[in-house]
Amino acid sequence: MEDTELYTRLLGLRRPWRVCRVELNLEQNRVDVWAVEEPRWDWQCPICGKSAPVYDHAGEQTWRHLDTCEYETHLHARLVRITCAEHGVKQVPAQWTGPRSPFTMKLEARLIDLLKECDVTGVTRLSGTKWDATWGVLDRAVERGLARKERRVPMRIGVDEKAVAKGHTYESIVCDLDRGTVEYVTDDRKQESLEKYFRQFSKEELAQIEAIAMDMWDPYIAATKAHVPAAEEKIVFDRYHVTTQVTKAVDKVRRQEHKALSANEDFRLKGTKYLWMWNEENIPEWRRAEFDSIKTADLKTGRAWAIKESLRAFWSYLSPAWARKYFKAWYFWATHSRLQPIVAAAKTLKRHLTNILTYFKHRITNATAEGINSKIQTLKLMACGYRNREHYRKAIYFHCGGLDLYPRAEAA
Ligand SMILES: [Zn+2]
Repeated sequence: MEDTELYTRLLGLRRPWRVCRVELNLEQNRVDVWAVEEPRWDWQCPICGKSAPVYDHAGEQTWRHLDTCEYETHLHARLVRITCAEHGVKQVPAQWTGPRSPFTMKLEARLIDLLKECDVTGVTRLSGTKWDATWGVLDRAVERGLARKERRVPMRIGVDEKAVAKGHTYESIVCDLDRGTVEYVTDDRKQESLEKYFRQFSKEELAQIEAIAMDMWDPYIAATKAHVPAAEEKIVFDRYHVTTQVTKAVDKVRRQEHKALSANEDFRLKGTKYLWMWNEENIPEWRRAEFDSIKTADLKTGRAWAIKESLRAFWSYLSPAWARKYFKAWYFWATHSRLQPIVAAAKTLKRHLTNILTYFKHRITNATAEGINSKIQTLKLMACGYRNREHYRKAIYFHCGGLDLYPRAEAA
């Protein structure tokens, strides 16, 4: 077999294209391949598909392909421009690459596979490309994926805020809780942040949403009430966020009490922070005796802790009516505890009770998207490799968007 024939097959070129020349450069560790088209081919206008004569050829372009036996392989060709009676002069897209790519589709697909496994810097190092070229692969993949994405409103969504890097910078993430995909990422955690997501859809589409998990965060609540029909029955405050309110209150009680005790040389509460915050069964064996003695020592912190622990039973109810009854009793206990942080937390919960109780109907939490959260956490650690926030956001869509990322000939 001739080398030109071999490369026509290796590259998977289809008529009218074929390889006309192959050059091996051992010193530079590369193979260069030139493709030409058959003469007198019946070209078609890329817009209307009607036959159109060749107008001229574009200048020679080069695309990198998968290596041949570890030799960098580059494909050269001059693409054809036709002239259509209706559409004028148009370039016919190449069958081996997508728009704006310096790579053939096969290499681009391989780089996408690599990008799923490591960050842009790592892929750049492994493949001997340039950072910007590697980034371009990810960027185009997300663009393609978003363009192909079916327009649909998830039935059950989770809205979550994430702190970005250090300081008080946030972003909002909307997840499809059933598919486990990130649907939307945007700056900030304001009402406007979430409204931008909702505004993509009509009222009828938004009416299909069955339930929305979120923190007790007023801007999200306002955005949802403004856009989603019957939002009052659909908002479900995330149970972990609810529990955290009470856990934080316990910690506040501990700090206050520790300060007061320390003034009298009593250091029993020193170093006990997490003992009170963990669920009781998660306390490590070696600290159990210490905890058992301290929790029965008639301390305010011990009382606060007992109130927090008893709220856990609330979540195990099956019916909203019984859960409500249980909450009522718990609330009475909490608000009569004379522990100010606990009273305040209980009141916050009471104020949001309607949409805490919706949990017993919809049974969703933001932890449903736990896989996503840990992926995003990893991306955040890699964020320095993404250079800026826009990149980081693209990376979230790439890794968590559930998008169809790969180039295909018909998309050319
Ligand atoms: Zn045309």
